[in-house]
Amino acid sequence: MSQYRTFTAADAVEYAKKFGGVDDPSALVSAEEIGDGNLNLVFKIFDNQGRSRVVVKQALPYVRCVGESWPLTLDRARLEAQTLVEHYKHCPEHTVNVTHYDADLAVMVMEDLSSHRIWRGELVKGAYYPEAGRQLGEYLAQTLFHTSDFYLHPHKKKAEVARFINPEMCEITEDLFFNDPFTDHERNKYPAALESLVVSLRTDDVLKIAVAGLKHRFFADAEALLHGDVHSGSIFVADGSLKVIDAEFGYFGPIGFDVGSAIGNLLINYCCLPGLLPPREAAEGRERRLSDAHEVWTQFSSRFLELAHAKTSDVALAYPGYAEAFLRKVWSDTIGYCGTELIRRTVGMSHVADFKQIADDTMRTECIRSCITLGRTLILAADHIADVDALIARIRQAG
Ligand code: ADP
Ligand code: MG
Repeated sequence: MSQYRTFTAADAVEYAKKFGGVDDPSALVSAEEIGDGNLNLVFKIFDNQGRSRVVVKQALPYVRCVGESWPLTLDRARLEAQTLVEHYKHCPEHTVNVTHYDADLAVMVMEDLSSHRIWRGELVKGAYYPEAGRQLGEYLAQTLFHTSDFYLHPHKKKAEVARFINPEMCEITEDLFFNDPFTDHERNKYPAALESLVVSLRTDDVLKIAVAGLKHRFFADAEALLHGDVHSGSIFVADGSLKVIDAEFGYFGPIGFDVGSAIGNLLINYCCLPGLLPPREAAEGRERRLSDAHEVWTQFSSRFLELAHAKTSDVALAYPGYAEAFLRKVWSDTIGYCGTELIRRTVGMSHVADFKQIADDTMRTECIRSCITLGRTLILAADHIADVDALIARIRQAG
């Protein structure tokens, strides 16, 4: 059994030679650590021609951006690798290919996606990938349908729920999404000018009951194997291509959580574009974000229904009309979780480039204000927004 040790660049090269699956392992000569500093080590492995060939990712026994004072389970590397392997089975087109992993070393080897770029960075620059919304909807439908009770045998489903029990990573979500922003917590960070808006979140009974419901469903609704953190920073894009990475929050949870996280990050960008781009480009970018969000839901829901009609194995779940009824529950969850994503990214600790990169302080504060206000509106209205067109109308109305 291999013993855990933190890899140096040289260790990562040796590991890739053994387990990288390349035809010419002796050509692998160097590694560069490219992780963006949040949680894990990520090494790109180069050959003697200077080409990057594979990626080696290793979990550290603590949260990298905080330090050893916040320990974190190494089992997350197994969960990440197994979630990606499972999702790749059902949607190879849009999931990074993990070719090897070792649970004891908390390490995995995956395809190098250097030909792609992280979507969030592209969204911040105002670059447009017209197929990305549809592709993300396809990823969500394929991975979530094929790991749900619609598709899996009940015995297999229960065994899978057990295999993907992920209490420590779930606890991070439970705290950062559903507790911190709605309490006076030291981890929260937001502009001082928004104090009264943020304090109003803590004292709004209707809002807090709605958030409690979302948290309860996150605890209890083991509907499908979620990615668990499918934001625009976990998605690589290139012309006509989209690949999802970084699934260490994977567990069986409510489908609307993944769909809502995906759409939520598009709406964060929508709120921030006026601070990032000149007015005309910002207005055009905002229209594109609304159409991306529309595409994510439309593709997700139509493909999910098509799969449900063609492949549902359970006789009760196959009853005509049930899949449609289930999707209505997923839709209101999606809106609610989308709202919590907008709030936890702005009031809570996990900030994103979309507003961090706004140079003007006043503008940044106003963009953050619109994220928080939209987030609250969506959580409160989640059961009353009929369809995706009504959602888009609400977003426009919010300004
Ligand atoms: P963490 O779990 O620490 O957030 P990520 O999986 O998000 O780590 O990876 C951090 C960064 O490493 C990504 O933003 C990306 O720039 C780079 N990266 C990760 N996986 C790959 C890959 N397969 N190919 C190329 N670059 C990658
Ligand atoms: Mg990441």
